[in-house]
Amino acid sequence: MEGPVPHLEQAASAACTMATNFLAPVKTERQIYENSMLEDDPNANSVVPTSFEDRTVPRWGPNHKGAQELANLYSTGKRTQECICVGICITLMMVNFLFIMVRLRLENLSAIAIAAICGIVTADFGSGLVHWAADTWGSIELPILGKNFLRPFREHHIDPTSITRHDFIETNGDNFMVTIPFLCKLTWDFLSLPETEVQQRFLWTCYWFLLAIFVAMTNQIHKWSHTYFGLPGWVVWLQDHRIILPRRHHRVHHVAPHETYFCITTGWLNWPLEKLCFWAILEAVIEKLTGFKPRADDMKWAQKRS
Ligand SMILES: [Zn+2]
Ligand SMILES: [Zn+2]
Repeated sequence: MEGPVPHLEQAASAACTMATNFLAPVKTERQIYENSMLEDDPNANSVVPTSFEDRTVPRWGPNHKGAQELANLYSTGKRTQECICVGICITLMMVNFLFIMVRLRLENLSAIAIAAICGIVTADFGSGLVHWAADTWGSIELPILGKNFLRPFREHHIDPTSITRHDFIETNGDNFMVTIPFLCKLTWDFLSLPETEVQQRFLWTCYWFLLAIFVAMTNQIHKWSHTYFGLPGWVVWLQDHRIILPRRHHRVHHVAPHETYFCITTGWLNWPLEKLCFWAILEAVIEKLTGFKPRADDMKWAQKRS
């Protein structure tokens, strides 16, 4: 009778250890406190300096020399491109919204809701994939891509509050641009296809429309997740109900070296992807195939403190 008891105890303790490891927070409060800029305290009044360098050179924020250099690379040409993209995108969103509303039938509402949720989940995954790729690979020196599209990602890690000082155009220009071809295709289909075919494709149309809306809104949602003062009540409600990226959740990404929690639309996929080691495996495969070190350029900018 004595035999099985130690086995049971071993199994129970192994199960306990597994559960503890599995359910442990991805970053502890201490890791967050010591390795990220506190955005509810952007002047770092509560940060205890841990080294001589910390006392003399800002580790994060608008006074960081690297952040200032990156902010200065925002050009007039880039600004013009963003203004044009925002204008075209908003027009296409309104046109497609009207086409969809005209064809909305109450009896299809549950199927439409499922299509819409699938669109939102895809947007969350897409935000993670693009954010991960931009944070992890490439460099500011790359022609066209570097200064125009990687620059904001580098700036954001060393001065996370800069996004809260960007206006609507600078915040949303790039994401709005990405959705333009998809919104054009939806409009074209509404205008050119026979009505029966439009009806047949309607669920797919709802999926693509919600995907485009959430992709377009991703950086605005991201900006709200960094805004600790003066947010409208309805935005805080959406954050508290985890419909859009919550503030505390996104802080996990801002712990150096910024290697997890890349999804920034709703954040729903961050925890499962972390538990599957999705990003770590992807990075290991790419490093093996190409020899490039993940986040080499990001580290370089982080070190340009003075
Ligand atoms: Zn990042
Ligand atoms: Zn962020």
